[in-house]
Amino acid sequence: MTDVVIIGGGIAGMSACAQLAPYVKVVLLEAEPELCYHSSGRSAATYIEDYGNQVTKALNKASLTFLKAESQGFLKKRGLLLLGKKGQEAQFQTDSEDLGLECISIDEAFKLAPALNKENITRQAYRPDVYDIDTNKLYEYYRKSALEHGAQIRKKTKLKTAYLKNKKWEIESSDGYISASALINAAGAWADQVAELCGVSKLNIQPYKRSIARMQAPAGINVQNWPMIDGVGETWYAKPDAGSLIISPADKKLVEPHDAWADDETLAAGVDSFQGIINAPLQRMLSNWAGLRSFAPDGNLVIGPDKNNPYFFWFAGQGGYGFQTASAASRLLSDLFLERKVSVEGETLLALLPGRF
Ligand SMILES: Cc1cc2nc3c(=O)[nH]c(=O)nc-3n(C[C@H](O)[C@H](O)[C@H](O)COP(=O)(O)OP(=O)(O)OC[C@H]3O[C@@H](n4cnc5c(N)ncnc54)[C@H](O)[C@@H]3O)c2cc1C
Repeated sequence: MTDVVIIGGGIAGMSACAQLAPYVKVVLLEAEPELCYHSSGRSAATYIEDYGNQVTKALNKASLTFLKAESQGFLKKRGLLLLGKKGQEAQFQTDSEDLGLECISIDEAFKLAPALNKENITRQAYRPDVYDIDTNKLYEYYRKSALEHGAQIRKKTKLKTAYLKNKKWEIESSDGYISASALINAAGAWADQVAELCGVSKLNIQPYKRSIARMQAPAGINVQNWPMIDGVGETWYAKPDAGSLIISPADKKLVEPHDAWADDETLAAGVDSFQGIINAPLQRMLSNWAGLRSFAPDGNLVIGPDKNNPYFFWFAGQGGYGFQTASAASRLLSDLFLERKVSVEGETLLALLPGRF
């Protein structure tokens, strides 16, 4: 019999799979024909240590050592520049402090992104230690590590229903039946649905859509080394990616779990905002996409055993932080699962356990 079945083949499920495979027999089920098809294939691939609430920040920080590990090279320096306009002073101050940025002059900002429209910008703040995450490399690291330790990864295999009988899960999937001692719910936007399919009460984890446009860089301008640039109040952001620019309107639309797509009007809002702070015309849109960021009601990740069912583990609510928290979060999940000493303690631990609801 399998020790644990993990539902979901995004970064959450795969990082959990890699952490557990050396110790227990793991089978991972992914409904889609491809891994990383939903949120984990659609992120902005950024690490910002001070992005998110206090609990998320603790996981970000605790993940940094692993992400920086010399031999893996998951991170590449990018920097983060926050730009404010007239009338946004108070929010600019709040954002700067929250994100750990320091004020810089407009000339210093211009050096970082030499097409800024100086006339439209009244405030600038920056921190250099913000990184691009090589999300493919990180995901592959976990996938290969899981396989090396004997995990089974089954694509195109959707959990249909599961019930617990004599401390054993009987799981019906679209590809047959499996028995397991425990289940880990890493189903992203579908986490509540998966819980209910297993007879476990949902936690109200809700998906919010976020969109991204990939724009050709302005003619004759090399954006490669520009920092990530944020609008005040998380209203838009832009960053270079493979010679072009990815621009998000930072939309947060509550939706049902689905295969998300971006609409033109929402994308245009982000592109217009960014166009307003540079004085070179943006070229055509090369592609676009949207993905779902799923949050528990308090915005914290949900990691650990269900309060009423110790054989059902939650690994959900990764919000906009699934990659930057993956190392510490998956480590915590596996420590709890294997009943080892946990490195996240005190109030932070309580704020992550499902029993808080
Ligand atoms: C536009 C955007 C930008 C982002 N930017 C960043 C960023 O810069 N940095 C960062 O750290 N994070 C970022 N994120 C967040 C990050 O992408 C997510 O937190 C992360 O991908 C969530 O991973 P997951 O594995 O929980 O979910 P998913 O990747 O969605 O995986 C869940 C999987 O579960 C599967 N599943 C569901 N139901 C079943 C079932 N019944 N049976 C089998 N399988 C099932 C689904 O098919 C899916 O593949 C961003 C997200 C978006 C949308």
